Amino acid sequence: MIDPECIYELQAIRRTYEVGGEAVHALDGVDLQIPKHEFMAIIGSSGSGKSTLMHTLGFMDSPTSGRMIFEGKDVSALGRGARAHYRASRIGFVFQAFNLLPRLSILDNVLLPLTYGRSKLSKKEKRERGAAALERVGMSHRLGHRPGQLSGGERQRVAIARSLINDPSLILADEPTGNLDSKNRARIMDLFDSLMQEGITLALVTHDEEVANYARRRIRMQDGKIIEDDHG
Ligand code: ADP
Ligand code: MG
Repeated sequence: MIDPECIYELQAIRRTYEVGGEAVHALDGVDLQIPKHEFMAIIGSSGSGKSTLMHTLGFMDSPTSGRMIFEGKDVSALGRGARAHYRASRIGFVFQAFNLLPRLSILDNVLLPLTYGRSKLSKKEKRERGAAALERVGMSHRLGHRPGQLSGGERQRVAIARSLINDPSLILADEPTGNLDSKNRARIMDLFDSLMQEGITLALVTHDEEVANYARRRIRMQDGKIIEDDHG
């Protein structure tokens, strides 16, 4: 059954690597549904499969077997080009190290994903979109600054604005608070929470239980499997 209210449905997903003639199951039978407006944390020890799951959800990697339904379409066996299209237009990414380009202004950093997609927008329309995204994260007063002139917490807010620019269905964040102090960690998680309340769907990887507790749902991975799914 395909549920139109689901962003993602994963069924029996496996991702197997061959290492020295041996099979390593980075994902070993993952079943997961991500409804719209979910705010989900993925936790688990190192090597449990968190990054592989994120790469799979972000069209950066393909499963070895299993079924993946994204926004009602079977995307289990997409080719490179289709994957690149989904990655660029439907998914927003936030990284631990922010990944802003130091020579570009804050506004131009936020506009960067538009160069791969909606290039039909005029310069003025792009600028307005970028300013609106920065407004959502409370950074519209810094359009002309460079990343080096901002604090870590501010840089991550800019990176979140960049992830929003294409109106993605899903934002994926890999340890988004890993480089932040506790005060900025809380601010970023509060920002994610308010975005979720505006209707954004979020999945983030963290090894920090306190960070995970901001999420509405916590998934714990071990040996490539989901061993706990806590909606409390
Ligand atoms: P986590 O992000 O939870 O630390 P990963 O998803 O990175 O875990 O890795 C899960 C398992 O898959 C680990 O055993 C890891 O060594 C293995 N793995 C991940 N990527 C590769 C790869 N490119 N080649 C071989 N093994 C890999
Ligand atoms: Mg990892």
